[in-house]
Amino acid sequence: MPFGKVKKQYLAIAMLIFVLLFFFNSKPAFQCLSPEIQVSSYLPTIYAITPTYTRLAQKADLTRLSQTLMHVKNFHWIIVEDSEKKTDLVANFLKESGLNYTHLNVKTQASKHSSVLDINICLFKTYKINSTWYCASGVEQRNLALKWLRDHLKKLHDKRGVIYFMDDDNTYALKVFDEMRKINKVGTWPVGIVGGMRVEMPLVTDGKITGFNAVWKPFRPFPIDMAGFAINSTLLLEQPDAKFSRKVQSGYQESEILKYFTKKEDLEPLADNCTKVYVWHTRTQKPSIITPKKWQTPVFDSHIEV
Ligand code: UDP
Ligand code: MN
Repeated sequence: MPFGKVKKQYLAIAMLIFVLLFFFNSKPAFQCLSPEIQVSSYLPTIYAITPTYTRLAQKADLTRLSQTLMHVKNFHWIIVEDSEKKTDLVANFLKESGLNYTHLNVKTQASKHSSVLDINICLFKTYKINSTWYCASGVEQRNLALKWLRDHLKKLHDKRGVIYFMDDDNTYALKVFDEMRKINKVGTWPVGIVGGMRVEMPLVTDGKITGFNAVWKPFRPFPIDMAGFAINSTLLLEQPDAKFSRKVQSGYQESEILKYFTKKEDLEPLADNCTKVYVWHTRTQKPSIITPKKWQTPVFDSHIEV
């Protein structure tokens, strides 16, 4: 049929269908973002708290850690030296790292323990100087960081964020940082190679934590390693007394801090309902060094930072 003979009514209907299809198929060029879209683009700040102390492998450990952290967006590293003064090594290292950081220091205090057999207190992390037993548990360092963070958050309009306690020799997959940004109050996930196990993890049924697989001190209120949880930073101001304590047994620091913020059954399981390992409690072997005195021709290297 010649085009000219098509009835005008049919043409009008075809054009109407075309116009309708055009409007329903095309997206508007600009639109107001829905609240859901605005929420999904929000990236909470991660405040990571790391105690660190002088030893031969310190710079190696900090280098490995910082090169992971360089890939984490919206990240603030609170690094606390276990020392009377800030060291040049750590100060220069942080300056050169390009990371967003706060550098603090506090020396672990001498404990008044008469003997290493004082088993109630930090069983595995004691050392002796001039007949006094010291306890190296990171308590003073982490508490100083929490105090700094409280003061910092009070000054901020937007107090939202995530607090994560990171040891300087663990291994962190970038995915663990994505997971912790999902928490409402306190989130948890498995930790690899810790507590005498391949993986220490919460047991999840129907999306809720119903138990833990820990074998090392399974009766701990929260049988979780420090690397296995993170806390919403707004809770820190709601719980002004929350801190670590020197008065607890080894392995109880996690329970000590968590008791202020949550109950075991309210922990939020992350990392695919606690089925994925994104952090490992690796430990750097203490290096054994041959002293230059034993060498035939000593080469002095004390001017080189290692
Ligand atoms: N740490 C510290 N002072 C010490 C011993 C340890 O500040 O005397 C820090 C250490 O750098 C790490 C955290 O505390 O970031 C936990 O220590 P470590 O890795 O030795 O603990 P473990 O591997 O035995 O759990
Ligand atoms: Mn460690």
